[in-house]
Amino acid sequence: AHLERIGAVEETVGAFITVTGEQALATAAEVDAKRTAGEDLHPFAGVPVAHKDLVSTEGILTTAGSRILGNWVPPYDATVYRKTQEAGLPLLGKTNLDEFAMGSTTEHSAFHPTTNPWDTSKVPGGSSGGAAAAVAAYEAPFSVGTDTGGSVRQPAAFTGTVGVKPTYGSVSRYGVIAMASSLDQVGPLTRTVGDAAALHEILAGHDPFDSTSLPDEVPSFLAAATAAAASGSLAGRKLGVIKQLVSDAYAPGVRSAFREALDVAAKAGAEIVEVDCPSLGYALDAYYLIMPSEVSSNLARYDGMRFGLRVEPEEGPVTAETVMAATRAAGFGSEVKRRIILGTYALSAGYYDAYYGSAQKVRTLVQRDFAAAFEQADVLVSPTAPTTALSFGAEAEATDPMALYLGDIATIPANLAGIPGMSLPAGLSEGMPVGFQLLAPAREDVRLYAIGGALE
Ligand code: GLN
Repeated sequence: AHLERIGAVEETVGAFITVTGEQALATAAEVDAKRTAGEDLHPFAGVPVAHKDLVSTEGILTTAGSRILGNWVPPYDATVYRKTQEAGLPLLGKTNLDEFAMGSTTEHSAFHPTTNPWDTSKVPGGSSGGAAAAVAAYEAPFSVGTDTGGSVRQPAAFTGTVGVKPTYGSVSRYGVIAMASSLDQVGPLTRTVGDAAALHEILAGHDPFDSTSLPDEVPSFLAAATAAAASGSLAGRKLGVIKQLVSDAYAPGVRSAFREALDVAAKAGAEIVEVDCPSLGYALDAYYLIMPSEVSSNLARYDGMRFGLRVEPEEGPVTAETVMAATRAAGFGSEVKRRIILGTYALSAGYYDAYYGSAQKVRTLVQRDFAAAFEQADVLVSPTAPTTALSFGAEAEATDPMALYLGDIATIPANLAGIPGMSLPAGLSEGMPVGFQLLAPAREDVRLYAIGGALE
């Protein structure tokens, strides 16, 4: 049914870079055979999944949305993909993204744009725009995305879906192409909180192949979400509205939808308080130094020698340096180049302390602000993004990339602090979905489901 749906709408939506129909049907047939034979199956066996094209899949094209990996077929599986395979989830395909997950609109894909199923003149958000659009367009029930600065939560907000960024280190990143390693997290994108809980449970857990992996047991997110949905009650829960993240700079329609969602929470018995996180004012600046620094280091491996594209210079000697330069000039898009240049500059001798060092200090301040705020509330809340989905071309027309980076203001603090966050739908503004963000303390991802499940 999902492959039929992909056949019907994909030309308009463009959520996928690769559709793996045959493989999906083969897994589905295997699951059916096992079910008929009375074998023990995972409860969600047979429910199909789409993976962001940043997740390595053995034998299946994995591009990171970049020309430099345009023909790369990985020799191994990412742990998150292996886990969905082991649970018997048929792979529908690999979804579109901004190149190497850098962007907020999916317009930076080297291949094609993805449209927002609510209004095809609008972007689906990014960088996991394909993952979100696939779910919103009913092309996939489960989607796996990555969130380095909001790339699961912001596209969820723009497409009226549910997106979760788990606690840093709680979902393996082994085999997931790295953007900024101290910020990257893999997370689920689905249409309901319960579905996100189910997929999150499949993805999470310790992985000896990921050195940042936490040893924690995976709690039952699904049980928490189901119980919360059944009771619908938030009695005894405190929601802390982050003062710094509901400013006048936010679109009026976003603010009013957010206020209405708070009223719903209050009617369900929640106590609403206001919390102050003064360092969040510097979080965006810190992110846009730390992230490019790590990007410049992670992307140094695309040198035209080891894997992916190799381009030789049109004239002059063919040396390691000239091949590297020609390959990177042809293989990377402008946004990726911008960030590599910014990152190498920020890390260069003499600037390191002033830029990267200061940004790391801000990161500590953000963590302290959150720690203090969680003394006053069970979860912190804000709109997920200051606006609803932008129109196509807004990115290209923006003369200053900083203006677009501002759209990440509400999502990046969670990545800097390593805490979990969820975006869930909070109604519409002029026909377009608005996202309501919940943030919980590190390793308390289950709270997102216990509270999000009651709000849905
Ligand atoms: N929009 C952010 C950026 O461009 C988010 C990236 C991400 O989470 N992968 O950096």
